[in-house]
Amino acid sequence: MQNLVLYRKYRPQNFKEFFGQEHIVKTISNEIASGNISHAYLFSGHRGTGKTTLARIFAKAINCQNRKGSEPCNKCASCLEINSGKAIDLIEIDAASNRGIDEIRSIREGIKFSPTFLKYKVLILDEAHQLSKDAANALLKILEEPPAYAVFILATTEAHKMIPTIASRCQRFEFHKLSFEEMIKKLEWICENEKIDIEKEALSLIVASSEGSLRDAEGKLNQILSFLPKGKIKIDDIKGILGLVDTSIARELTDILIKKDKALTLKFVNNNIEKGSDIQEFIKSIVDYLRKLMLLKIDPELIKTIAPGETKEAKEIIEKQSKEFDEKRLRKTLDLLLEAENKTKYSSIQQLPLELALIESMENE
Ligand SMILES: [Zn+2]
Repeated sequence: MQNLVLYRKYRPQNFKEFFGQEHIVKTISNEIASGNISHAYLFSGHRGTGKTTLARIFAKAINCQNRKGSEPCNKCASCLEINSGKAIDLIEIDAASNRGIDEIRSIREGIKFSPTFLKYKVLILDEAHQLSKDAANALLKILEEPPAYAVFILATTEAHKMIPTIASRCQRFEFHKLSFEEMIKKLEWICENEKIDIEKEALSLIVASSEGSLRDAEGKLNQILSFLPKGKIKIDDIKGILGLVDTSIARELTDILIKKDKALTLKFVNNNIEKGSDIQEFIKSIVDYLRKLMLLKIDPELIKTIAPGETKEAKEIIEKQSKEFDEKRLRKTLDLLLEAENKTKYSSIQQLPLELALIESMENE
């Protein structure tokens, strides 16, 4: 278990194993099954949402010698070559570290010749928005007249930075952040396969702190397993290892803030920092919680979506707190906390900006 790399081990090998992004998987599968694929794709979206993973499955599917519908077989010579990571006709470039014209030139040279082994030559260009201007122009030239055997998949976290002339030549797909339920489902599946006994609350905390990035959530689970290889994993263990703060702390602090109890606020903050909460995570979790209060003030219906994974009791409390917290004061508190989050990086006493912000938030105008 020590050196287990969950992200690689549980990387999906076909479309069926791929979690989330159903809108994309469906369209792409249909294109493959009907033999109607494009020469250039642009996958954009938040990090860790499956862009390069899906690009690799796609490369495998179009090259598979035994494809069933749209699914690669993972057994034929083409699939095996791609899975081994040694396929010379599958070129993967990270534009973040290879920004230059030389890289594009070599692609242009390479793309001139038909594939050696696979049916299609596939180029996956990660972080495509980072290409230099010259490199991007060279890429555009290739995209203007792509050879019949070439397929380009550009992936980017910042689609707005892509040159429009390149983007317009691609079939475009937007990857969404994964939903709370989708991420829980995947982690549960991994835990079941690895025979990991973990509290449901602990999984919820990992997911809640990963902001829609499955890769981050899997990385955190991995980190926990390297610390706690045996026995049942509890939410308290996780908080200690990842320095995470669970919502019960923000909930409790919110009650104290509503009562405007300065002494208790300072005591509460200090107790939690002493117990090992990371100050940035601490502020982040309070901001996140108070933001939900603000959203609920504006639209009480949002309770259905903003507190996934929370118990009925916890939802009732947050609704009650949202009514009790004065709206103007709530906005002021959020403003002050956002400032404190920044100041913490430069403060010699880490928790001081937070303490000042909370006290000021309780003072009258
Ligand atoms: Zn195959």
